[in-house]
Amino acid sequence: MVKIKLKIAIVQLNPQINQIANTENRAIKLLNKLKVHNLTPQLIIFPEFGLTGYNFHSKAQIEPYTTFNNKGYNYDFAKKVSNEFQCYTILGYPEKFISKETKKLSLYNSTMVINADGKLVHNYRKSFLYDTDEEWGCEENPIGFNKFELEFPVSQTTAGASANCNKVKVPSAIGICMDLNPYKFEAPFNDFEFSSFVLDNKVKLIICPMAWLNSLSVTKREQASDIAIKEKLHEITKLKKEMPFLCKPSENDKYSINLDNSSTTPRKESCENTEGPAFRDLNKPDMENVNYWILRFTPLLNINYRAKWWKQLKDIFVERGSNNEISSSILGVTKEKPWGFQDSNAILCMSNRCGIEEDNTVFAGSSGIYKFNGKDFTNEESTPLTLDSSNPSVELLGNLGKGEEGILYREVELEL
Ligand code: GLN
Repeated sequence: MVKIKLKIAIVQLNPQINQIANTENRAIKLLNKLKVHNLTPQLIIFPEFGLTGYNFHSKAQIEPYTTFNNKGYNYDFAKKVSNEFQCYTILGYPEKFISKETKKLSLYNSTMVINADGKLVHNYRKSFLYDTDEEWGCEENPIGFNKFELEFPVSQTTAGASANCNKVKVPSAIGICMDLNPYKFEAPFNDFEFSSFVLDNKVKLIICPMAWLNSLSVTKREQASDIAIKEKLHEITKLKKEMPFLCKPSENDKYSINLDNSSTTPRKESCENTEGPAFRDLNKPDMENVNYWILRFTPLLNINYRAKWWKQLKDIFVERGSNNEISSSILGVTKEKPWGFQDSNAILCMSNRCGIEEDNTVFAGSSGIYKFNGKDFTNEESTPLTLDSSNPSVELLGNLGKGEEGILYREVELEL
């Protein structure tokens, strides 16, 4: 077995549309906090559309902000960060791509991975699109979720592993925001498409750049006449007045700085959520969202019922035979064992944006680093384990607040 210590920094930004230079300056200011504390991240992760802002409504509006994956302001910024910190930089951006064969222009919601030499080592395109992506003609990733490798130094080798290699390739995957949801919100909730992909492909490093909304947002899916909506709009107007930095971030603002490796996020069961539509304590994570994100990783969570499910699902696995088209796990149950993830481990890094865009899009911030430890906590007498942050098989290593820009740094052990 090989052990590595991953040094991860997550930058939470509030990128407003048409404010790229300002956003870059604040990002650099946040990264400088690492230098002051002599912290040397191997991986720096920015949000979905980290520099551009998110709510674009037409192809014409977004086009000036789109760039190719290996040149332009997005690439230049990521390369600068990588060179300076000698690390991988992961940045969400609107991508333009021109096919060599057909000359057709395609737009994607993408994430670039730039290595310490400033080279693009991976480019992932969002597979499951959100309504806003569709408005500007974003195309779905034609190849869907995919796995790639990032190389990190080995910190410890145990019996059986070849002792003479000092670097190890870590199987990684990127999921951009809506990728964590059921496809188009229409697929069965229990398909858990992205987290099943993670399990089936033995991904150990899960990276999620996001522009995830807080439930206070009023989206097109909701009816403007509803009383509850009016209450939400009233609350947002109040927020904007009391805390103008939510719409107009500046370099003089207060940031959430969370660099203390020993501090973890207090757990909170889903049923304890009493916050309602109010958006307070901006320096604290939004546990309603945190709990939902954890729920979407159900296949990696330890739960009580899988032994029973395994017996019931056996016939389905036999019927499927060796058809590789179908993902091999169901709710975390595999053909081989009740819980495919048992005794494994994986790190989840979520870099979500914060702030308010336009009249009523409130983003959820609460970026965080989690470890799924693959341990079994169930026994016959125990009360069932819940599918939220109170589940001991997920460790909440740290989070940023819901409303402030900031930086989170953790050193995390991972076994391969
Ligand atoms: N469903 C997500 C949300 O509610 C998707 C947003 C996105 O893909 N950026 O925020």
